[in-house]
Amino acid sequence: MDHFLYRGGQLMAEDVAISEIVAETGTPVYVYSAATLLRHLKLFEDALDGLPHLVCFAVKSLGNVAVLKLLGEAGAGMDIVSGGEYARARAAGVPGERIVFSGVGKTREEMRMALEGGIRQFNVESEPELHALSDVASSLGKAAPITIRVNPDVDAKTHAKIATGKSENKFGIPIARARDVYAMAAKLPGIEVIGVDVHIGSQLTELAPFEAAFTKVAELTESLRADGHDIRRLDLGGGLGIPYERINEAPPLPFDYGALIRRTVGHLGCEIEIEPGRLVAGNAGLLVSRVTYAKSGEGRDFLILDAAMNDLVRPSMYDAHHDIIPVAEPEAGVETKPWDIVGPVCETGDTFARERELPPVAEGDFVAFRSAGAYGAVMASEYNARPLVPEVLVSGDQFAVIRRRPSYEEMIARDSIPEWL
Ligand SMILES: *Cc1c(COP(=O)(O)O)cnc(C)c1O
Repeated sequence: MDHFLYRGGQLMAEDVAISEIVAETGTPVYVYSAATLLRHLKLFEDALDGLPHLVCFAVKSLGNVAVLKLLGEAGAGMDIVSGGEYARARAAGVPGERIVFSGVGKTREEMRMALEGGIRQFNVESEPELHALSDVASSLGKAAPITIRVNPDVDAKTHAKIATGKSENKFGIPIARARDVYAMAAKLPGIEVIGVDVHIGSQLTELAPFEAAFTKVAELTESLRADGHDIRRLDLGGGLGIPYERINEAPPLPFDYGALIRRTVGHLGCEIEIEPGRLVAGNAGLLVSRVTYAKSGEGRDFLILDAAMNDLVRPSMYDAHHDIIPVAEPEAGVETKPWDIVGPVCETGDTFARERELPPVAEGDFVAFRSAGAYGAVMASEYNARPLVPEVLVSGDQFAVIRRRPSYEEMIARDSIPEWL
């Protein structure tokens, strides 16, 4: 459920008309609903109620500092994958003890930054990384709390580019080798082993892969405890999918995911961490765009928008589907017709949808991409020298621009011309 509904003949974000926002910001623009973000966070809080837990929002899915502050003040921790994301979480006021550091290629500089600034734990993904962290922490006279990310060799049944839990993926340590690596970790200076971490992929639409992975983690936890490790925290990653196509998709609910966590690892008495990104942010955001031209081709009609693949790359990168709806509410029962919906960028890949049925739309009309809150603005670029797409946060009847569109002068000022040129 989200807070983007038609009211009085137009699309609203909570109590603000989208038309009012675009009159101020222009298009394209991302619009987020604070109530939806908080509601999704609470679904996970409720799902784990009674278990000691921390919900760590995956910053990589939507990293705007205002959004992080909103979620952080509601009690969320943060899952970060870079020094930049660490800095963002801290700028949003999230304390280090609520930040977990994931990622397959943390540099020594990033490790130092987190150790000096405060960090809840590192989720270590390889033996070389473990040695590097041991060096950095020892040189600072600190002990780095760690989990080791195990790769459970489970098929997440999702898009190949976002599956991370098969043995051929680059992530984590093969679960069969985990006991050896834990034994080595326990002997290293500057390392404090506290838990186990797993994350098998994103946009999972079934619970079975989670069940397989968490069951393996539970078995591993028992073995590690038998080996003498004090395993007291389990980080179960993110990955729960959302319905991108409203009419025919019904992925599992956070409540059932929570029940699965209780069933598979609840008996171990560990503190549970989860790292949802997409489910919190995805349906809490729209990308609003304007129709630049409606162009008739040979047997195909193209709707050319002012948004492009550089603003929302998911359709061209993952073949992802986004529902696209007019901002002015269509009349009930009105006839639809198929459009190829594209952006202005000079790539054939700059295609959002093919033969998509839409109610009547004309040049100058506004349309909204639904489910664009996660992996939308964060993946945007300035390709074709298009200004980075701005972001707006709505809460009730108020809205604020939380990242403004840069001017051409600002974009050009980032380049510098050498004296000898
Ligand atoms: C991407 C990622 C997440 C978030 O995944 P979602 O599918 O957005 O919930 C969580 N943890 C790790 C380690 C990740 O890489």
